[in-house]
Amino acid sequence: MALGFSRAKTAPVVAEAAADGQLQPSQLAGIAASIELIPVALALVGPVEDGIGIAAANGAFRAAGLGTTVGESPLIEQLGDRFARFLSSDRDREEFSWEFGSAVDCRHFRIMLARRSPKSSHCFVTLTDHTGELRTERNLRREMMTDSLTGLPNRAAFSERLEDKIAAGGDAARYAVLIIDLDRFSRVNACLGSMAGDELLITVARRLKGALRAVDVLARTGGDEFGILLTLEDDPTEADHVAQRIEAALATPFRMSDFEIRVACSIGVAFGSDEIEDPEDLIRHAQFAVKRSKASGHAEHYQTRAFDAARTAFGIETELRRAIEQGALRLTYQPICDLATGRVVSFESLARWTSEGGQEYSPNQFIPVAEESGLIVPLGRWALDEAAKTLRDWDVRAGGGCGIKFAVNLSAIQLHRDDIAPAVERALMANKLAGSRFTLELTESALVADPQRVSDTMHALKQLGATIAMDDFGTGYSNLAYLQKLPIDTLKIDRSFVTGMLADRDKVAIVRAILSLAQALGMDTTAEGIETNELAQTLAALGCTCGQGYIYAKPLEADAAYDFLMSANT
Ligand code: C2E
Ligand code: CA
Ligand code: CA
Repeated sequence: MALGFSRAKTAPVVAEAAADGQLQPSQLAGIAASIELIPVALALVGPVEDGIGIAAANGAFRAAGLGTTVGESPLIEQLGDRFARFLSSDRDREEFSWEFGSAVDCRHFRIMLARRSPKSSHCFVTLTDHTGELRTERNLRREMMTDSLTGLPNRAAFSERLEDKIAAGGDAARYAVLIIDLDRFSRVNACLGSMAGDELLITVARRLKGALRAVDVLARTGGDEFGILLTLEDDPTEADHVAQRIEAALATPFRMSDFEIRVACSIGVAFGSDEIEDPEDLIRHAQFAVKRSKASGHAEHYQTRAFDAARTAFGIETELRRAIEQGALRLTYQPICDLATGRVVSFESLARWTSEGGQEYSPNQFIPVAEESGLIVPLGRWALDEAAKTLRDWDVRAGGGCGIKFAVNLSAIQLHRDDIAPAVERALMANKLAGSRFTLELTESALVADPQRVSDTMHALKQLGATIAMDDFGTGYSNLAYLQKLPIDTLKIDRSFVTGMLADRDKVAIVRAILSLAQALGMDTTAEGIETNELAQTLAALGCTCGQGYIYAKPLEADAAYDFLMSANT
């Protein structure tokens, strides 16, 4: 980061007074008198009996502690040779930086050498003190690189430290990045308020720090995400030991006012290697591993390239690629019902894949593979086309308009890699559907990765007339002020808050909070994962708009879903 500070200009009089050829003692005295009052440290340097010395110096120069005679001037002592080289060169100007003093009270000067012509025996040396500016710059920089809440390095600083590590190469290349994601952190914010959330983050940071060695770098890389740059001394298992220490450090509940809070975390590990050049790659790898960790419940390693290649050759990725190419994926449809009337208002399309070998993969398994491999782009486009085709088919079957919408899921990676709005538009047009027939479901994580791009995409989708739903709401760490600015129509309350809600006051509090937030922002709400009638009634009473879950129907094959719609809405 370069902070531009304007440099002090040398007084023009100095350049004019630059000596030409040999200077006479009388000229010297004249120069000494004329430079005395110039407020910048200034000296005339030229040949003396045995080398280079100061022929004249002004008050500012002496005041800066730069001496006047050869013996006592640190300037001549340290830079005499450089001045001599300049004077014997054919240049008339040179500029450089110079530090003077001990590390603690070091002063930083910008030095300018100038003489009227290359023939001149003497040159003027101007010193501009930049110490104050440099300090300000450094402080400012420190501030910009620090997370103000925890005092830890922030994401930008983490990236920079990692870059240094990568640049160092060699043996220093033995390092790993750990990303630690706090699970359900937003529950604390929702239940106890953001002050308590902040307090918790500070305590977590402290405990994490305590589980690390001094050489390791701990940073806050996101709302509820921490990054660790680990220097590996022995072998890669060290990273697992650190992960265990971290899990242990967070296992003891946190005391916050009257509550005891348990914080679980997901940990992803990515190892540095010769192939890694970009720090962002390594951070992303560790974040991918975090996703796996969320599913498996323990720390996960990002699989290195070699492993990836093996997986590509024999594994699920190749099969998935083929499945997408050959149209072997299908969509199932789960109804979303109006809680007050029980009518079906839309269907969410959910991808299904049965491999050639007859293995059933859950989207929770193959969507992450698609995201990591880039297959999410063709998969996402296929899902849009397929959903649009089915909806068109239903419209025709119903004798012109089946009266409901379809919801399609968009992954954060897909939003990042594909131009979504045009793809949605093409799918709609090809099937003669109005934009209003589609809801696009996005997750909070999409916002964190690239807010501007996602915001642009959302607006483009709204332009098409589509509806936008925030999926799995409550599991991420959304900036509420930011949410308010986005054209979101619906919040989908994550299943984890709904399941078992009736027996859990915490969950009820979160659901209430989300409902009142949605109401304040003028958004609709859909509760996911409703499995009992009682739950549906309670949610309706709390003011939730729509519901989805096994109580209505599991995700159904297209034909079964159509039949379900016909019998439910007539
Ligand atoms: P999601 O968007 O949160 O979808 C809801 C998930 O909850 C579905 O799981 C659904 O089967 C399940 N579910 C619905 N009601 C209930 C219930 O009452 N109880 C329980 N226990 N579960 C219920 P599914 O189909 O396994 O999908 C998992 C996730 O995969 C989805 O979560 C979505 O994020 C992702 N996904 C599915 N299809 C696609 C797709 O076409 N594109 C993308 N990008 N993601 C997809
Ligand atoms: Ca969804
Ligand atoms: Ca969801």
